[in-house]
Amino acid sequence: MSIAHTLGFPRFGAHRELKQALERFWSGKSSLAELLEAGKAIRAAQWSAESHAGLDFVTVNDFSFYDHVLDASAMLGVVPARFRDAKAADADLDVYFRMARGRSQAGSSKADVPACEMTKWFDTNYHYIVPELEENQHFAISSRKLFDESAEALAAGYRPKPVILGPLTFLWLSKSAGKEFDRLSLLSRLVPVYEEVLRSLDARIEWIQLDEPILALDLPQAWRTAFPQTYQALARATQNRKLLVATYFGGILENLEIATALPVHGLHIDAVRAPDQLDQVHQQWPRERVLSVGMIDGRNIWRTNLNEALKKLQPIYKERGDQLWIAPSCSLLHTPVDLNNETRLDEELKSWLAFAVQKLEETHILKQALASGPDTVRAALDANAHAIESRRRSPRTRNPLVRNRIANITDAMKRRSQAYAMRAQAQREKLKLPLLPTTTIGSFPQTAEIRSIRRQYKSGKISEQDYVKAMRHEIEQVVQKQTELDLDVLVHGEPERNDMVEYFGELLEGFAFTQNGWVQSYGSRGVKPPIIYGDVSRPAPMTVEWIRFAQSLTSRPMKGMLTGPVTILQWSFVRDDQPRSDTAFQIALALRNEVSDLEAAGINVIQIDEPALREGLPLKASQRDAYLKWAVDAFRLSSGGAAPSTQIHTHMCYAEFNEIIESIAALDADVISIESSRSRMELLEVFQRFEYPNEIGPGVYDIHSPRVPSKEEISELLHAAARYIPVSRLWVNPDCGLKTRGWPEVMESLANMVAVAKAMRAEY
Ligand code: GLN
Ligand code: ZN
Repeated sequence: MSIAHTLGFPRFGAHRELKQALERFWSGKSSLAELLEAGKAIRAAQWSAESHAGLDFVTVNDFSFYDHVLDASAMLGVVPARFRDAKAADADLDVYFRMARGRSQAGSSKADVPACEMTKWFDTNYHYIVPELEENQHFAISSRKLFDESAEALAAGYRPKPVILGPLTFLWLSKSAGKEFDRLSLLSRLVPVYEEVLRSLDARIEWIQLDEPILALDLPQAWRTAFPQTYQALARATQNRKLLVATYFGGILENLEIATALPVHGLHIDAVRAPDQLDQVHQQWPRERVLSVGMIDGRNIWRTNLNEALKKLQPIYKERGDQLWIAPSCSLLHTPVDLNNETRLDEELKSWLAFAVQKLEETHILKQALASGPDTVRAALDANAHAIESRRRSPRTRNPLVRNRIANITDAMKRRSQAYAMRAQAQREKLKLPLLPTTTIGSFPQTAEIRSIRRQYKSGKISEQDYVKAMRHEIEQVVQKQTELDLDVLVHGEPERNDMVEYFGELLEGFAFTQNGWVQSYGSRGVKPPIIYGDVSRPAPMTVEWIRFAQSLTSRPMKGMLTGPVTILQWSFVRDDQPRSDTAFQIALALRNEVSDLEAAGINVIQIDEPALREGLPLKASQRDAYLKWAVDAFRLSSGGAAPSTQIHTHMCYAEFNEIIESIAALDADVISIESSRSRMELLEVFQRFEYPNEIGPGVYDIHSPRVPSKEEISELLHAAARYIPVSRLWVNPDCGLKTRGWPEVMESLANMVAVAKAMRAEY
């Protein structure tokens, strides 16, 4: 019998059960036993969903109390010295949470320590805890989680398939704890521990999934050659069990020969991200081994076109028979749990969607159709065809006006009407800013009061009038405080925004919102991305009234605040029936109208945030230029219509510009603010080397902690910045928005920042 399975299932809980359990435990409101119970209940729900859907395995060890990479570190004993406990030999939950968060639960006597670094999991919005390896790292099995959860599934009567992060991907995702060394040099110490793990698994376990997503990356030769030798050792340790190597997030054609050389029983490939690889992998992967094809998109929420998928799979099934397995493309970690929990989406739109539970059902239907013939699942296939047709034909997804506008985009629209040097002149005359102008990134503290007012308004408890009054009151306070601080370019503080994408999505056509569409971002944090299902347009101005009001309170320039097209795209579930670039351009055109309405309302400075521009970078180098081209075009389309005297700002929350500096310059924003305090301004080196021509506001203090920076520190950083960038093109601002901070520290920090800017002006 052929197999339907999944590489993983969401662990956040359909109603964020994991988040709630963790937060109760961390704050001391629940016991360890209660936390463990909550974990058990989530696993039981995962397995029950998988078995109900008719999958042939339940996947084990995809559950995690924080992060699956951290689980691998714990399993392998990769615990940095600062977390090691003299008495506890194992990486217990206490050590585990300290690695993730720097502290364990409330009331713990352990001192806080710096948490491990967190970074993005490939090109997803999920963040993993980076393993820290020492040059003489010792590995040893140090957590029983994998074995305990396997035993739990067996005891519950399931047929478990444990998933383990593969050794090479584990090393690849790690970093050197101290000075840089070749992490591959640790492989010979690491592999024996993996062998022991495999040997220690219950004899009843038949298949083990080892995730090696790095096979879909451009790998250095040394890493490629490390694969066969590693897997030869692992294969010897499996005894009677079988290994399935799972790849995802891209194609593996460049590494197919290596994959084929691995002595494993099965290979999983992502046929959604890389549909073109299917044929060639099928040709080259030996017939007697299992080929698991990821046909259902694990990264998005659209219903799969099952009839089309079937057409692609049938010829392969004919040749491979039961050695063909069916699965979602990657772990379903990146999708919400169950569409049935959505009660507010209209039925039509809902019929186009599939969340994790529905994706399992799709997986099973495909397998049934192959193994027993399409007629055995005819009703399901017909219902699917009907939904796919309804989406394809729906006027809701296609707006002729928007299509017409897209078809008529000209190159001139992607360019400001004058070059930066001339614009800068016009802006100097209009804005009359001092040298080293001071500003902030947009948001001010989102107090409990602001949040409560927004909630009351959303739930209909207060009238629109009262809501507007409360927000205006907040804006007045924020403007007054900035005036007291003597900042040069002011902001309205963004009190009306709970989120920089949701706010715009709610005001644009073509977006839908879920009630429970949560996806884990990291640990206890989840995001609820909007769904872009149709052509995007702007029925009415989105920010103009707030900004106009804010500007009416001051004679200083008020900065309009927009989220850029790439960021809105990147942080949403995006339609899959047209290229991402088309959707980005539609959003860009809506923003372009907003820019022009802001100008008409007398706003002369407009910031278009693009914190997600770098995130969208494809995993493979060969695809990066094409992405950067349209991403830059989308930004330029949104800003290109601004008058020369209108100063366009952009903001990015990171400090790594090496690979993308040319594209950053190509955005041609008049001013860019970036995060740089933690890199001590060293990142400006690349801006200098590239002779970045426009103005830059390198963040002069870190907003990620409540700590108030001293004037000396800020001054030192600003002077450091001036060694890279001429002061005539330098701005003075914090690293990022201030919404997560408290007012007292914000006032003190900004007062110090303004004082330093003033003192430094006097030097020139
Ligand atoms: N304008 C936003 C703010 O200040 C920018 C946030 C971001 O880039 N992440 O909060
Ligand atoms: Zn930021």
